Amino acid sequence: AHLARIDAVDEKVHAFLHIDREGALAQARAVDAKREAGEKLGPLAGVPLALKDIFTTKDMPTTVGSKILEGWVPPYDATLTRKLRDADVVILGKTNMDEFAMGSSTENSAYGPTGNPWDLTRIPGGSGGGSSAALASYEAPLAIGTDTGGSIRQPASVTGTVGVKPTYGGVSRYGMVAFSSSLDQGGPCARTVLDAALLHEAIAGHDPLDSTSIDAPVPPVVEAARNGSVQGMRVGVVKQFRGEGYQAGVLQRFDESVELLKSLGATIVELDCPSFDLALSAYYLIAPSECSSNLARFDAMRYGLRVGDDGTKSAEEVTALTREAGFGDEVKRRIILGTYALSSGYYDAYYGSAQKVRTLITQDFEKAFEQVDVIVSPTTPTTAFPIGERADDPMAMYLADLCTIPTNLAGNSAMSLPCGLAPEDGLPVGLQIIAPAMKDDRLYKVGSAVE
Ligand code: GLN
Repeated sequence: AHLARIDAVDEKVHAFLHIDREGALAQARAVDAKREAGEKLGPLAGVPLALKDIFTTKDMPTTVGSKILEGWVPPYDATLTRKLRDADVVILGKTNMDEFAMGSSTENSAYGPTGNPWDLTRIPGGSGGGSSAALASYEAPLAIGTDTGGSIRQPASVTGTVGVKPTYGGVSRYGMVAFSSSLDQGGPCARTVLDAALLHEAIAGHDPLDSTSIDAPVPPVVEAARNGSVQGMRVGVVKQFRGEGYQAGVLQRFDESVELLKSLGATIVELDCPSFDLALSAYYLIAPSECSSNLARFDAMRYGLRVGDDGTKSAEEVTALTREAGFGDEVKRRIILGTYALSSGYYDAYYGSAQKVRTLITQDFEKAFEQVDVIVSPTTPTTAFPIGERADDPMAMYLADLCTIPTNLAGNSAMSLPCGLAPEDGLPVGLQIIAPAMKDDRLYKVGSAVE
């Protein structure tokens, strides 16, 4: 049924870069056979899923939305891919994304944009716009995203779906193509809070193949999602997550959500987190710096594309020609910015200062979580904007992540879930819930209470 739905709508939506029709049907049949034989089934047996094209899959190409990896079929599965297979999930295919997960609209994909199923002329968010569009268009009931600065939560917000950025280290990064290693985090996307929790539990947990993976039990997310409540909880509202640039209808739905939390028994606490105002600037030094280092591995020798290898050119020339042809504008912009920020003489002024701001943001969160159990905010300042509107204005694009970036810098957990439609344009608004590190279960407890 989901393959039929993809056939009917994906030409217009363009959520998928690769559809694994044969593989999906074979997997579905294998689940049926197991069931008939009375064998033990995985926790998500037979449930179809759309996988962001940033996770390696040994039976499907992995492009990361870039020309530089066109045609590359990885020799191994990411840990997350393996866990999905262990859970007996049916992987339908790989979803569209901004190149190397850099963007907030999926317009930076080398393979063309994805449409927002609510209005195909608008962006589905990014970088994981393909995954959230697949959910919103009912092409898949579950999807996987990655969130470096908001790429799970912002797409969830603008497509009226649920997305969770787990605690940093909660879900393995092994086989997830690196953008900014200290920020990148894979996580679940779904249409309901409970679905997200079931997927979260299937993909989370310690992985010895990822040195930053946390060796501790997975927070009880499913139990929390089944027992939603905010009775007696202290909920923080940060004054920095409001002001210029926020759409009136977004703030209206957010304020109503705060009223709902109050009526359900939560105490609302106003919080001041002054360093959050610097989060965007710090992020756009740290993320490009790490990206400039991580993307050095695409040298035309090891993977995918190779340009100009005609026997007359040096290895350096082939590398340069390949990177020139293989990377898009946003990726090049960040490699240049990051290389500059890390260069001798500028390192302390730029990268060093950004790291200090990162510490201040972490401290603001620590102080906040002495007073509250969770923090709430709008997920993104506006509803889905038209395709093309911000494509030539990187600064306007970066503002989409104003409310999501502080969480990545501190490494804690956050969810976006739908909280109604903005009255002025009838488009979905997302409520963000933020919890301390390894308290991801609180997201689900609160999320399912207000869903
Ligand atoms: N939009 C942000 C960026 O362009 C975040 C992307 C992400 O979370 N991968 O970097």
